[in-house]
Amino acid sequence: MIFENVTKCHLKSKNCVFLQSNIEVMLDFAITDKTHDESRQGEALILRPAGDKAARKLYIESYGCAMNFSDSEIVASILSEQGFETTGDFNQADVIFINTCSIRENAEQRVRNRLREFTIAKVKNPGLVVGVLGCMAERLKAKFLEEEKLVDVVVGPDAYRDLPNLIGKVDEGQKAVNVLLSREETYADISPVRLNSNGINAFVSIMRGCDNMCSFCVVPFTRGRERSREPLSIVKECTELFNQGYREVTLLGQNVDSYKWKGGEEASTESDQPGEVVNFANLLAMVAQVDPELRVRFSTSHPKDITDEVLYTMKKYDNICNYIHLPIQSGNSRVLELMNRTYDREWYINRIDAIRKIIPDCGISTDVITGFCTETEEEHQDTLSMMDYVQYDYAYMFMYSERPGTLAAKRYADDIPEAVKSQRLKEVVAKQREHSYTRLQAQLGKVQRVLIEGFSKKSDKDYCGRNDQNAMVVFPVNENYKPGQYVNVLVERTTTATLIGVVI
Ligand code: SAM
Ligand code: SF4
Repeated sequence: MIFENVTKCHLKSKNCVFLQSNIEVMLDFAITDKTHDESRQGEALILRPAGDKAARKLYIESYGCAMNFSDSEIVASILSEQGFETTGDFNQADVIFINTCSIRENAEQRVRNRLREFTIAKVKNPGLVVGVLGCMAERLKAKFLEEEKLVDVVVGPDAYRDLPNLIGKVDEGQKAVNVLLSREETYADISPVRLNSNGINAFVSIMRGCDNMCSFCVVPFTRGRERSREPLSIVKECTELFNQGYREVTLLGQNVDSYKWKGGEEASTESDQPGEVVNFANLLAMVAQVDPELRVRFSTSHPKDITDEVLYTMKKYDNICNYIHLPIQSGNSRVLELMNRTYDREWYINRIDAIRKIIPDCGISTDVITGFCTETEEEHQDTLSMMDYVQYDYAYMFMYSERPGTLAAKRYADDIPEAVKSQRLKEVVAKQREHSYTRLQAQLGKVQRVLIEGFSKKSDKDYCGRNDQNAMVVFPVNENYKPGQYVNVLVERTTTATLIGVVI
């Protein structure tokens, strides 16, 4: 039964399986973990309905992680300053942008297939501008223009301020490319417009790029060097969101634990003028103090960098959610070394033990890659035994996909047959399914504080929202409460994916 659903998921993303408690949650409620929401892939983002007939219309579609969705909001903000309106129908658009992901091969294939679908629109409207943004643009650069004749503009993640100028060049009949990466750009001063928002949850980017060199990963090449955003601009954005009625922010970065800012510049060493450095624990506390009614989440934590100070800060503030996404990738130390993750199995276990000790009821999720170069059956078993040790609430699970230019592609043969990668993935998925269910069952009879996000996808007689640990909770609509409010829900039963209860 579950694998029928997994297959459905694979139709969208062949070698990724996301299991939040169970795949069904994705199908039932279409509100999955917000950092990489499979149900949002390819979503067109709409800022406001077209009203001004003279305004040029932008259609923007996003793929990949939350950072890309957040970047699309920055792009829409930059172009709305230039008088653009957004549209949800690409046939009505003057400019089509596709914000892309390169993390696995099938993510890129999905974008190429989608581009083909814009061909007829371009034939009908030769003045239509088609642009590729994000990681795939950065990876392929001007080559994209040769490979996909339809494309007029190629823009990397640090060059969005140049978009009006680049569109101008295309209007004059040229093709345009800007893939310069920056060591400073954080778009700190740009207030992202909130696209397709429920008015309750928002992403807030706190840093860009990544300085880790995990050997399988293309991100350091496509998003450049790590840089942290000025903390007061983050607090200001969160305060504005709260004042507009938002009740949950998710602070985004590839490795939030290495967030660091020192008065006016990014801090390079911790010993430099201590006291002036804002680290991630300090930033969390600053955002938590915006208002006790504002929930704070964050993603992604890195096992090598997550500190006890962060854990104690989470414990201190009730509004910092007890939920940590801590990617393991592999449970075997030799494979972790080949992956250049810079921690081993023992270190990871130590971090899990610290979380369980300091925040006993913390929800924990992870990322797993199966069939990395040279991984043996015994080493795969180490991943399964690590999953047994941690008992993750949720997991994103992937088969290894070799990415050109990465350290692994240069150094190691991608030598595990697809069938073996896939078999291992199935075993990891089956294991996670058991654990997710056990973790949900443990909530039976307990009262959860839930932030109401809206109606459940199945019925407008039910509300849905998340508990502190990020589990989806569904309960009958109660007239005394509306979306954006907190309620206490007694859990009476669970499906394989969801907690079901009543407001008390
Ligand atoms: N920065 C985060 C971290 O370190 O965990 C997430 C980065 S990446 C956008 C999200 C996940 O994609 C990774 O944790 C990893 O599991 C997976 N991933 C990255 N490169 C991959 C590859 N070449 N093949 C399969 N999965 C990959
Ligand atoms: Fe990629 Fe590793 Fe950076 Fe995450 S920490 S983005 S997996 S290089």
